[in-house]
Amino acid sequence: MATMTCERLFELFDMHADKNALEWIGQCHDCRAPVTVRAVPREDGIHVEGGGIYEPEPERFFLKCNTCFQKDPALGHYQPCEVYSRVVGYLRPVAQWNDAKQEEFKDRKVFDRSL
Ligand SMILES: [Zn+2]
Repeated sequence: MATMTCERLFELFDMHADKNALEWIGQCHDCRAPVTVRAVPREDGIHVEGGGIYEPEPERFFLKCNTCFQKDPALGHYQPCEVYSRVVGYLRPVAQWNDAKQEEFKDRKVFDRSL
């Protein structure tokens, strides 16, 4: 099954993240309702809020709203959703960033408060 693992979430935080949360904005895979799923680091691990995230292929993300996720947590036939992250102060789909910015996005690191 294509559910997101905790290890993969940590990896995504390492690769992409803004300091406080990763956010996926798109449509629910099952009911097509707009959905925002967030992965938030907390003391006891990463919490996924708002529904389910799937990554059946590397860097291709799919979402489910809470209702559909509880009805059926498995991902059936799927369609891609956008990954959003902050670029120069506002949110845009990474796929629409220019090449230089997309390269820079790959190099982003998590800010470590303990340093
Ligand atoms: Zn749904």
